[in-house]
Amino acid sequence: MSLSQKLDTWYTDYGRTLPWRGISDPYRIWLSEIILQQTRIEQGRDYYHRFVEAFPTVADLAAASEDQVLRLWQGLGYYSRARNLHVAAQYIMNECGGVFPSDYQGVLKLKGVGRYTAAAIVSFAFRLPYPVIDGNVYRFISRLYGIVTPIATDAAYSEFESLLLKKIDRLRPDRFNAALMDFGSLQCKPVPDCSQCPFADECIALKTGRVALLPVKAAKAKPKERWFYYFHLRWTVNGVEHTLVEQRQGKDIWRGLYQFPLMETDKELTDKQLPVEAARFAKEEFHLSSFRFLLSPPFRHQLTHRTIHALFLEAELPSGTAPATEKYRAIPSSEIKNIPVSRLIDRYLQTL
Ligand code: SF4
Repeated sequence: MSLSQKLDTWYTDYGRTLPWRGISDPYRIWLSEIILQQTRIEQGRDYYHRFVEAFPTVADLAAASEDQVLRLWQGLGYYSRARNLHVAAQYIMNECGGVFPSDYQGVLKLKGVGRYTAAAIVSFAFRLPYPVIDGNVYRFISRLYGIVTPIATDAAYSEFESLLLKKIDRLRPDRFNAALMDFGSLQCKPVPDCSQCPFADECIALKTGRVALLPVKAAKAKPKERWFYYFHLRWTVNGVEHTLVEQRQGKDIWRGLYQFPLMETDKELTDKQLPVEAARFAKEEFHLSSFRFLLSPPFRHQLTHRTIHALFLEAELPSGTAPATEKYRAIPSSEIKNIPVSRLIDRYLQTL
């Protein structure tokens, strides 16, 4: 039996039922694929439903504000995915006459869509024979054929793609791809039970005792460490508590999300240095001549390439104080739950 036939039989018995499977709406398939990058299926499922409900069509997504999109995305991380979704939806409305592109090259032009996502969209929505290659597929295929090329590079993608182009079911590439992904995820797991595997008699890794050694992964860079000191200022105006926020700009993480005024350092400040640096920052940024604060417990926030160490400096200012500047916006404290913030800020807010 061919790879495609064996996968098909396995998929009939064990394939997953997912809300974005068995549909042909490219917009919803695209949404699901972007959400599922770097996100577990269970968590992704909730966000998928949320997005489809808030923005049932690409036109609805394009018409939303960036704040609305980021707010809905909050908690998923990798916010560039949400910003790219929004930009691409506007591109479809403005440049493609509101019609989702139906060919691989056209889909690849959408911001935030790479080869894997384009293959998933055109195979699931339009049944075009492009194989999908995610981490689970790399693992399964490298073991089955004994491939030792380090994965997750452009060269590896091309190598696996040309192999799978010869194997894909050209009549049902959607089903072949779904089966391939599910097989890698559910059967050929990092520590698999090979005794239950329909490929056990031909799997090179199993035959040569290299199941635990494949796939070969490229060495990872050590995460960069950063120290964030947030200024959580509070004061009342006409009996309403206010606080100060800013929107993150530039090419850094969390662009477009809101935060308390931030002082960042490249190493941890000592107990002696912190009050001095905080007073200097408060004077320069908010024109406060003296600054007394309480410290939150430390927060550690892990991102793929960065470790963030954060402390929140909490300060009550005299009533009527208005430390807002062009850079910082004063808002009623109760409104912070309505604006998009990072998961780190959200974790802190939940402790208050
Ligand atoms: S025999 Fe084991 S390692 Fe090989 S494909 Fe099956 S589950 Fe994966």
